[in-house]
Amino acid sequence: MPRPRRRRIFAVANQKGGVGKTTTTVNIAVALALAGLNVLVIDLDPQGNASTALGAERKTGTPSVYDVLLGEISPAEAIQTCPDAPRLGCIPATIDLAGAEIELVSMVAREHRLRKAVQSIDRYYDYIFIDCPPSLGLLTVNAMVATDEVLIPIQCEYYALEGLGQLLRNIELVKAHLNPDLNVSTILLTMYDRRTKLADQVANEVRNHFAGKVLTTIIPRSVKVSEAPGYGQSVLTYDPGSRGAMSYLDAAREVAERGTRETP
Ligand code: ADP
Ligand code: MG
Repeated sequence: MPRPRRRRIFAVANQKGGVGKTTTTVNIAVALALAGLNVLVIDLDPQGNASTALGAERKTGTPSVYDVLLGEISPAEAIQTCPDAPRLGCIPATIDLAGAEIELVSMVAREHRLRKAVQSIDRYYDYIFIDCPPSLGLLTVNAMVATDEVLIPIQCEYYALEGLGQLLRNIELVKAHLNPDLNVSTILLTMYDRRTKLADQVANEVRNHFAGKVLTTIIPRSVKVSEAPGYGQSVLTYDPGSRGAMSYLDAAREVAERGTRETP
């Protein structure tokens, strides 16, 4: 997979839960890292699902993204190497992060805390992915201020587009006031079930609406994809030959190829 001309930082965001944000973050990150690129995942969801899926330690007291946001440690001190891929690092989320949404409110530069941290380490990476929580609160705003690109996973289901308008309006607000470089660069259709007509309708609707931003690859619904995190693995290592693994590999390749086309 081609190395990007300049490091790329993505917020993987959608305020709906269960649309595939974490699954997409983990599997695309692993695919890029296995291809030899230097990748970092920052888990910004208090549930810590990305940390778990990447085999990262997240018990109480583990240096985490919470300590980084507070400015108590440098990001480098919180990075763990993932068993799946030596070139993949993870800054985990511990349960402490659950309070951060409220604690951040009274902090100085509350929207810029993650950006500052990311800027101190981004030169070591080709890709950084920030896995956002299912809300549009200050944690997600921190992610959007710290990144250039937003990747929105959209589930091929009923109500998939509901709430998308609000997400896009929030992105515009962040762009206008906090981060002029922000851009929804990538949309990925997830959990596609080819047996349902509805899945096709949703996919078509999203493509009509977002044209060039939507990856050609669609992620199918696959049991292997949902089993892998239980083993602290990505689907690419859990079952490399599965349809789920292949589709995430294709999605990662598309992301990487688009990266070489962009003007820096
Ligand atoms: P989010 O981070 O947006 O809340 P997740 O990535 O955690 O969403 O996915 C929600 C649930 O759906 C998880 O249990 C996950 O394992 C499962 N899942 C995600 N993608 C797929 C897929 N392509 N096929 C089957 N299950 C999936
Ligand atoms: Mg998640």
